[in-house]
Amino acid sequence: MKTRIAILGAGQLAKYLVLAAKKLGLSPTVIATFSFDPACEVSDEVRLGEWTPDSLLQVFQDHEIVTFENEWISEHLLSKVKAAGLINKLLPSFESMKKVRTKWDQKQFFIGQNYATAKTLAPSEINFSTISALQKSLQTFTQGIVIKESELAYDGKGVFVFESQDTEKIKTKLESLTQQNIPWYLEEKVLFKQELALVFSRSKNGEFAHFPLVEFQSEKGICSMVLVQGENSGVMAELENKAVIIAKDLCEKIEWCGTAALEFFYSEQQGLLINEFAPRVHNSGHFTLTASESSQFENHFRAILNLPLGRCTTASFAVMKNLLGSKDSKVAQAPKSTTHAEVFWYGKREIREGRKMGHVTAHGSIQCRDNLIEEVTQVVRKWQIKSSE
Ligand code: ADP
Repeated sequence: MKTRIAILGAGQLAKYLVLAAKKLGLSPTVIATFSFDPACEVSDEVRLGEWTPDSLLQVFQDHEIVTFENEWISEHLLSKVKAAGLINKLLPSFESMKKVRTKWDQKQFFIGQNYATAKTLAPSEINFSTISALQKSLQTFTQGIVIKESELAYDGKGVFVFESQDTEKIKTKLESLTQQNIPWYLEEKVLFKQELALVFSRSKNGEFAHFPLVEFQSEKGICSMVLVQGENSGVMAELENKAVIIAKDLCEKIEWCGTAALEFFYSEQQGLLINEFAPRVHNSGHFTLTASESSQFENHFRAILNLPLGRCTTASFAVMKNLLGSKDSKVAQAPKSTTHAEVFWYGKREIREGRKMGHVTAHGSIQCRDNLIEEVTQVVRKWQIKSSE
């Protein structure tokens, strides 16, 4: 009999989780808020409605494994599940998630493990009662200041970058966040050469597999393009080795089970610095849908079901660009795939600035790099023009 699995959430990540599960002969239930959420269209079973401690308890009672597409399920929502002794059905586990749920949890964990990360200050280390006190608190942060909201922040929301001398603006921002009871912390700005990401999976029995380390570029804090050199060599190969060591160590320490991603900064002066742990399938791994033998989504199910992980062998070059809504966007309509550029459309009804509406991928040999990037870029550009007409 099929294992009864539920996925909490019904966005694009859940959509590709469902499709991967189907390939493995599974038929997960999607727990959605609205019937037009992206994953509903591909799922055989959908449970609709507001999430409450009672509705989640019912989900756990009716399924053998419950997994999720994002990390924001609060302890409160899971309170009845815990009381009923069903929390061990959650995979990745509640215990793993507790250590890395918020950005601040992660930061403390990275520092505690001596992973290289951007210099960090907790609110208790910063006196912002006067400009001169603040200047004193920040005197060692010479490269610039990044204020980060500690939780519920994504796609660059809740990340504020300042020059070191902008003390007045920093003070105003800290006062405003504090007044609104929004938890925050501070990082030194990293003068990075590249932003890198590693997507990997670890199964219940400890098997570990990873895709190539990729480079990604962001616009206004939102990932816009991911580039994969499947056979990393030179500096990238060295960085990949380092990233894999950190990923394996982190997985062991938090007893991780499932697919996840690590985001890094690379700067020549500071080397590889860990920025963030995404405890779920991730945008930087969408290329695996077409360019790799198994996808990040398939390996998530293999990991939580304790099946052998699929091979992560990847084409020698791949590119992925997000279809992001702009301020001029009006119509949400899928572009057409071209010879090498494949379109993945999430089916969201409404288009908004910065909203991820779909993505476009292409892969091939490294010799075709420039042509493949150009083909994908053309699809994205034409779509942007069409959606704002
Ligand atoms: P999110 O969870 O919203 O993706 P991140 O912490 O990854 O938040 O920050 C979003 C983007 O902001 C990063 O991809 C990077 O471009 C920039 N950024 C974040 N922290 C720093 C930093 N310490 N130094 C320089 N840039 C940063």
